[in-house]
Amino acid sequence: MRFNALRELYGRKPLKVVPPSPNLSDYYAINVFTKDKMQQYLSKEAFRAFSAAVDKGTLFDQNVADQIASGMQRWAKERGATHYTHWFQPLTDGTAEKHDGFIDFGDDNQLIERFSGKVLIQQEPDASSFPSGGIRNTFEARGYTAWDLSSPAFVVGSTLCIPTIFISYTGEALDYKTPLLKALSAVDKIAVEVCQYFDKNITKVTTNLGWEQEYFLVDTALYNARPDLCMTGRTLMGHSSAKEQQLDDHYFGSIPERVTAYMRDLEIEAHKLGIPLKTRHNEVAPNQFEFAPIFEEANLANDHNQLVMDLMKRIARKHHFQVLLHEKPFASVNGSGKHNNWSLCTDTGINLFSPAKNPKGNMLFITFLVNVMAAVYKHQDLLRASIMNAGNVYRLGANEAPPAILSVFLGQNLSRMLDNLVEKVGDSKMTPEEKTALKLGIARIPDIMLDNTDRNRTSPFAFTGNRFEFRAVGSSANCAASIIALNAAVAHQLTQFKADVDALIAKGKSKDESIFKVLKTLIIESKPVRFEGDGYSEEWRKEAEKRGLTNITSAPEAIGKYLSDSSKEVLIGMGVFNEVELRGRVEVEYEKFSKKVQIESRILGDLAINHIVPTAVSYQNRLIENLCGLKQLFDSKEFDELAADRKDLIREISLHVTAIKKLSKRMIEERYQANTSECEKRKAELYDSTVRPTMLELRSHIDELELVIDDDIWPLPKYRELLFAK
Ligand code: ADP
Ligand code: MG
Repeated sequence: MRFNALRELYGRKPLKVVPPSPNLSDYYAINVFTKDKMQQYLSKEAFRAFSAAVDKGTLFDQNVADQIASGMQRWAKERGATHYTHWFQPLTDGTAEKHDGFIDFGDDNQLIERFSGKVLIQQEPDASSFPSGGIRNTFEARGYTAWDLSSPAFVVGSTLCIPTIFISYTGEALDYKTPLLKALSAVDKIAVEVCQYFDKNITKVTTNLGWEQEYFLVDTALYNARPDLCMTGRTLMGHSSAKEQQLDDHYFGSIPERVTAYMRDLEIEAHKLGIPLKTRHNEVAPNQFEFAPIFEEANLANDHNQLVMDLMKRIARKHHFQVLLHEKPFASVNGSGKHNNWSLCTDTGINLFSPAKNPKGNMLFITFLVNVMAAVYKHQDLLRASIMNAGNVYRLGANEAPPAILSVFLGQNLSRMLDNLVEKVGDSKMTPEEKTALKLGIARIPDIMLDNTDRNRTSPFAFTGNRFEFRAVGSSANCAASIIALNAAVAHQLTQFKADVDALIAKGKSKDESIFKVLKTLIIESKPVRFEGDGYSEEWRKEAEKRGLTNITSAPEAIGKYLSDSSKEVLIGMGVFNEVELRGRVEVEYEKFSKKVQIESRILGDLAINHIVPTAVSYQNRLIENLCGLKQLFDSKEFDELAADRKDLIREISLHVTAIKKLSKRMIEERYQANTSECEKRKAELYDSTVRPTMLELRSHIDELELVIDDDIWPLPKYRELLFAK
């Protein structure tokens, strides 16, 4: 099996990939119903109504909706579409779509092609199979999808896709997009108010997101020979390879030709969909790579990330690769994350995390920088909850990037500048000298930042010059979960900040002084979250504990923090979720965790009993045969000498086989026990505390067997093949 897979792999040639035109602009966004195309395909009236709806949130009537739908359909048909679908992001991993043809019966029962405004705007998929965390009973499983006007429709293959939100019959959100839109608008609203302390021209603040997507590629033949990869996306067993990433040679190495062809193909398809992919490179681990686009508005960027994850899988198959988006496909090899580069930008073109050329602009910068830091500090548990899942737990919990401790890296210079700021602002009324010193300090920020070339790759939340980089997000995650938490926390923090500043102003303090005072308090209060050193080190774990930072490595416990009082204050207080939605979501997270561990454990059990034990026994039989032969050939003294090592090996194999059988049985019992629990939280805790450790123990016996059993009969592709075979 394993050697057939290897034979199939060798000799694979890279596919030839040719773009539709040498000029990117000839095909960029060709499959997107952009504003330009809308202008071309819609009447003036319809286009104006659509634009007003996007910009001002006004509604349009049925007639306009019909006009938009018909223009959209005309365009989509020219792009080869025969079907349409509402494209949404349920709480499962990935996106959902149900395709309907542009086919209908007209008034006189004649067959016609139709795509009406009604079905463009709203649909009612049978939602019973999507997770809701008990919000809906299956007998009332109606859900609605409704058009998200802020993300353009696009054509994939022969289907027109319309980005939509997904809500239950009773109005609760059942997806990622709905709360994401709410969290983006929560920051917009309060950030504008804060900006207006400094600049009255600012009337909108947009969240930007630039994601970096890490992934592994494995040859299809090898992948198909590993049922664990096929069914769970990660290897449940496998001894580490003699060579892994010690030399860091992959990171700097050239990209293999077959992979380059794949990347090129993906880029072309992404560009056709208006996804501005820009960067592609090797990552740290062997066969690990990364894609990153130019950043965009967060809702669109997130749709694009979802689309790219989907494209990656589909296009990889063409190139005889399988994409692994799992956070930890291989034990002892670097896992995959998603770096969320996050920033806020005003409608006057200011990036709020870029220092400006004048003191006023720098005050704006400091204000937002400090508030984000304070938000991360106060809501570290919420942020962790938003990135924790059954896959990412192997990154967050392990001694590997990044730790489960949330810290913020600012760079030494900026960090020192904040400390200076604190020293300069006294507790009493500021003297004119103090004010001047402060203003000078603020004015120096751009120079300080220029020197700030140090980069810290071990920080889960790093300031990187003009944005924050949330690096602890899992590679398979929907970026929205972390942006929802981050934006809600920042909105909440800014709300508090504004209230505090306004209270001081009401007491007669000047605006500038009030802002300084509140910033000072925040800088002091959130100092423990600032960390410049090695985030992976044991010293940091101890230091963080001293500083009172939390370090939660158990997934169910981390997820449970969604429901802490402070998280609720943020998520419900900022109008991102209501109580029912939040509870439902947490139930879904527990459920997803349990189900994933359950599936992994079943597959591991199957493989252990059906693949590994028989292989071990047949090898053992060969050894026994060999011993019997030796016994006939040699006298007993000589035999004892010659056979000692083989006897040991037979014993060792026996011990492993016995342990595997015992542990498989125990794992079944543990699953059974966990499944009897009615409470999703309890069930997840049991899977975490009983099934997962048993899986690890079981695996260790299999990995030991892999080292001693004849390579010729080992049934599964090994790490060295999965990671290095080309
Ligand atoms: P690195 O690997 O060094 O972090 P990359 O170039 O791979 O950098 O990725 C950086 C990502 O950050 C890109 O998606 C880029 O568009 C994005 N980015 C750059 N500036 C901003 C910004 N102001 N806000 C949000 N994202 C940004
Ligand atoms: Mg990065």
